[in-house]
Amino acid sequence: MLLFYHDWLFRDRSIYIKICCSIFPLPPSLFVLYNQPMDIFKIKIDSIPRINQKYGEILKKINVFTVRDLLFHFPFRYEDYSERIEIDSLIGGQTATVMGEVSKSKLVRTWKKKMMITECYVSDETGSVRAVWFNQPYVSDSLTVGKGVRLSGKVLEDKNGFYFSNPAWELSSREPTNTGRLVPIYSETEGLTSKWIRWQMQNIFKLKLEIQDPIPTGILEELHLPSIKTALQYIHFPQSENQYLLAQKRFAFQNMLTIQLASLKVKMNWEKESSVAIPFNEKIIQKFTTALPFTLTNAQRKASFEILKDLEKTRPMNRLLNGDVGSGKTIVAALASLQASQAKFQTAIMAPTEVLARQHFENISKLFESYNISVGLLTNAYQEISNLKSMGDEKISKNKNRENFLEKIRTDKIDILIGTHALIQKDIKFKNLALVVIDEQHRFGVSQRAFLQQKIETINDGLPGKIPHLLTMTATPIPRTLTMAYFGNLDLSLLDEMPVGRKSIITKVIPPNKRNEVYDFVRKEVASGHQIFIIFPLVEESEKLAELKAATQEHERLSRDIFPELSLGLLHGKLKAKEKEQVMADFKSKKYDILVATSVVEVGIDIPNATVIIIEDADRFGLSQLHQFRGRVGRSQQQSYCFLLTSSNTVKSKSRLATMEKTNNGFEIAEADLKLRGPGEFLGVRQSGLPDIAMQHLGNVKLIEISRQKALKLLKNSPTLSKYPLLKKELEKFTTNVHLE
Ligand code: ADP
Ligand code: MG
Repeated sequence: MLLFYHDWLFRDRSIYIKICCSIFPLPPSLFVLYNQPMDIFKIKIDSIPRINQKYGEILKKINVFTVRDLLFHFPFRYEDYSERIEIDSLIGGQTATVMGEVSKSKLVRTWKKKMMITECYVSDETGSVRAVWFNQPYVSDSLTVGKGVRLSGKVLEDKNGFYFSNPAWELSSREPTNTGRLVPIYSETEGLTSKWIRWQMQNIFKLKLEIQDPIPTGILEELHLPSIKTALQYIHFPQSENQYLLAQKRFAFQNMLTIQLASLKVKMNWEKESSVAIPFNEKIIQKFTTALPFTLTNAQRKASFEILKDLEKTRPMNRLLNGDVGSGKTIVAALASLQASQAKFQTAIMAPTEVLARQHFENISKLFESYNISVGLLTNAYQEISNLKSMGDEKISKNKNRENFLEKIRTDKIDILIGTHALIQKDIKFKNLALVVIDEQHRFGVSQRAFLQQKIETINDGLPGKIPHLLTMTATPIPRTLTMAYFGNLDLSLLDEMPVGRKSIITKVIPPNKRNEVYDFVRKEVASGHQIFIIFPLVEESEKLAELKAATQEHERLSRDIFPELSLGLLHGKLKAKEKEQVMADFKSKKYDILVATSVVEVGIDIPNATVIIIEDADRFGLSQLHQFRGRVGRSQQQSYCFLLTSSNTVKSKSRLATMEKTNNGFEIAEADLKLRGPGEFLGVRQSGLPDIAMQHLGNVKLIEISRQKALKLLKNSPTLSKYPLLKKELEKFTTNVHLE
């Protein structure tokens, strides 16, 4: 016992003293000294009385380390047990709380002796009601005859009248915690129940805590939001729905304000830097675009113009090019790099996979064939250069010597360098990198993206004091509200228009019994010279092996039993880059009629001759992702088809997939997806550390606008936030936990 206290002494002196004070009263002066309110940021959670080390460990698993963390572990819903009803007024089906005395209590074993049933009768002045608990024998130990008790739960009815089954209960001598109130339901984890959390919350609120408000009072008053203390009370112990709604609103604002502060700071820091101004060479741009085999869409024109204008400035560009699959982002990026290389600056283009990097390399090399622009490809597997005319050298296509290759980057012999994130490895030094393009940025992990941006700011090149302009591209159309909330530091260009002449892809949801009809259709399409993708479900990282197995087996089955006369390729994530490339090349050159693939093909692969894509277990994918897959076909003048195979017949999954049948517009699908999955899943930021409340409000335009406005004002008033130390601390905590773009 002594040891135990001793332990506390080291962890948190004030609590130790407080406990001791309650056991051995101290002289008043000393008591005052140690009875200062305690800073919730500093008190370790396991130094709280009744939270022992074991619980401390469990709490760490849900990122609760300090008292503050626990206080900010908010309920995700409430059970309304606030209405106390007299027993003779109970109505079947309602949720109610009754209070009375235990008038009968017994523990019975069922005939198979498999189940223990506690059966009690609880009586008030108006009548009595039965309550049963299954396999909770300890209930009968507590609920002995004569005890006052409160029960909350749903009122059920059988031949013997009304009863409660497994109701929440507590002795009426205790203050309402789990019954008789709006009971908060917390997200739980193994070994941690809502009941336990409620109990601890109550204890913690009894401590004398110092909870300072990070939000200036003026702002709270203006927005009619409660103080942090009140809001915490309201969120954990609401007396009405209004109270917790108000508290949620306050915390949503607090989070959004922090998000906006973070993103504005990133933006301000970015804008403090300077870049080289790349002059707009209208003649060259015009010559290039007129030589293209197609005319640019208006959206492409507008986006290119915005980008080329940005490049003219010394203020570094930080722009997101947001366009649907197939909307023609590559050309826009190519135009930007053309402008850079005409001004004799280098461009780096990064793609999330080697296959995609290679494809860009091939396309862009071709686009610039007749220009004096050399293009390099650098990934872990490749080092290649094309269009080496400028070097007066013999045409080198492969370059085995890395040092030699890096030397070419350093000496400006490579104008456009394409690759994976291997591009920004330490040993790569550019001569004069003026533009970085990140393609399919949503495919880079969130923390990887933050890292990329940071890297870009410190990139190694011969332009001291300058950072490159940054263009990020995403093929997951992101609804505008979300970009405002989440990518607030970026300027935005939209490609919301498809190249003309594209036929929209015909999409059909296929139940299991129609599978063979799809196979027949495939045979017909192949007979008319087209190619087919068959996609196997995306799975979690941990299931990679299962995915591989499924795809391999299915490849075998299809080759042997279904399409013995056709040739089938197999593409999966476990193949080496070279092998993947070989498979893709073979598919492109029509060596295969059908490509069986795992989700690796999701990313921008361009096979214009493919007209059918079949997606197995389509219900396992998000809509935006299905839309990405679908974008693998429909890349030519041919009519293309997308078949979504599913054995799920729930109304929800049916209506979800029906969205795919109804529209080919990525932005509409994104909106639907956002509604269905919520912003966290949609953006793939579930793991980003963004608080749930913030996540739920990422789409709340009004909140975002107000928060942004207030954040701007605060930063204007105090650019380093030194006038708002608590907010600054809040922001620091946020930025270490959350990675914004
Ligand atoms: P994404 O936006 O998905 O990256 P890409 O840049 O790969 O799209 O373009 C898809 C295809 O459309 C390419 O084959 C490209 O050559 C073609 N393309 C791009 N712009 C146009 C246009 N304005 N008209 C016709 N075809 C276009
Ligand atoms: Mg692309």
